Amino acid sequence: MAKLRILAIDQGTTSTRAVMFDAAGKPLAASQVPLPQIYPADGWVEQDPEEIWLATLAVCRAVIAETGGVEGVAALGITNQRETSVVWNRKTGRPVMNAIVWQDRRGAARCTALREAGHTDAIRSKTGLLIDSYFSATKLQWILENVAGARAMADKGELAFGTIDTFLLWRLTGGRVHATDATNASRTMLYDIHAGRWDDELLALFNVPAKLLPEVRDTAGDFGASDPDLFGKSLPITALVGDQHGALVGQACFSPGMLKSTYGTGCFVLVNTGERALPSRNRLLTTIAYRLKGKTTYALEGSIFNAGTVIQWLRDNAKMITNASESERLAVELDHSGGTGRVYFVPAFTGLGAPHWDPEARGAILGLTRDSGVAHIVRAGLESVCYQTHDLLTALSDDGIARPPALRVDGGMIANNWLLQFLADITQIPVERPVYAETTVLGAAYLAGLGRGMFSSTDEIKAAWHLDFRAEPSMPGERRDALLAGWRDAVGRVMR
Ligand code: ADP
Repeated sequence: MAKLRILAIDQGTTSTRAVMFDAAGKPLAASQVPLPQIYPADGWVEQDPEEIWLATLAVCRAVIAETGGVEGVAALGITNQRETSVVWNRKTGRPVMNAIVWQDRRGAARCTALREAGHTDAIRSKTGLLIDSYFSATKLQWILENVAGARAMADKGELAFGTIDTFLLWRLTGGRVHATDATNASRTMLYDIHAGRWDDELLALFNVPAKLLPEVRDTAGDFGASDPDLFGKSLPITALVGDQHGALVGQACFSPGMLKSTYGTGCFVLVNTGERALPSRNRLLTTIAYRLKGKTTYALEGSIFNAGTVIQWLRDNAKMITNASESERLAVELDHSGGTGRVYFVPAFTGLGAPHWDPEARGAILGLTRDSGVAHIVRAGLESVCYQTHDLLTALSDDGIARPPALRVDGGMIANNWLLQFLADITQIPVERPVYAETTVLGAAYLAGLGRGMFSSTDEIKAAWHLDFRAEPSMPGERRDALLAGWRDAVGRVMR
């Protein structure tokens, strides 16, 4: 018999991927297709669900073929871009319009009206979320109100709503299963994360008929089986998980207080808070980390708008570097050459997030002296990611989160060892990079294995996590304090 394997789909904002893993969580093959974005109007972002579906089939078939065929594929898991919303016809399976992507701002005016009408506290206490058009509720309401005939069909129960996990599950099971998991449900702004159910008052507020909504299941468990015609054999689908939550699992952050920080275009920090859903005083989000065997584990989530974008700006706008990895070389060389003075780069391209929350702030490069050059600015750009992480950790600490034992990092930027060392120095917390840094898709595979009984418990997953590189804090406290004081001063200067 062929060795058992786990197939994981990572349907992300800019690409659709599949990775085949062995039964211990070791990657065997990967396939990826880029996903085109559609911009119908200023601030609007859509994707074609049919394109997502065809890409999903293609990448799955590619990794199945590459790893010896479908025999031995024991479980299928899906992780996905969160909040992106699709509504389709239950009979034909056809979407009524494109998917509205999480970044889409068309619900912003509705969100402002809700805030002004005083709904912030009620929504936050039920969903853990701040009222924002990122979340699915206003996207779904927009579809029902703007697609001809949609409202009437929805009232008759002829339509189905889903985030991308749910849409793919529906398609994979040939329309037999309409379900989501608790992590994805927790990002809709319609789900009570404490009671664990769709909330009638929120459904009324957004005018959403309950008939439209998927059943909410455990993150790992039985989601039905794929149509045998798709891959030549029916595959048990045993996990659905939102991408950041998938990364938390892929980083094996199963104990309260454990934290993962993803450094991609932006930066997302999730800290496991165990059975407690902690409210935030610092506008962080309370969310469901995962639900296993009916037991919900919660997390607190914070984000930094600009992490990798700093490097992209240095490369594409300022043309100070030709590729991302050059940033590391410049920072290392500059450290070796010494030099006086300190340049600060405040990348408030789109305002400042936690804990400053100033949407009007704009970026600046400060502290230039006659001997400053490109390397100073590039190093300051890398440093800014670390200072911002420090600020976010301060907000978490203010919300009652104890200092984490380590920062488990992933995302494209963590190839940069200089960055990881400075991050450890500034946060005074050891920084850990795992051997397999694609933690989101790995998390989906772990969960699928758990749902299929291939892993007996999360302890087994913990044991499968392996360290590649660890940066220990080594900067003298005085120097760190001076650097942070300079950063605070720089941030103060860009705030409006
Ligand atoms: P996303 O998933 O958000 O698209 P990725 O996790 O793929 O992003 O990370 C890509 C980001 O990482 C880019 O912004 C890129 O500039 C940055 N990056 C890649 N390599 C390095 C490096 N060696 N040093 C610093 N930044 C890097």
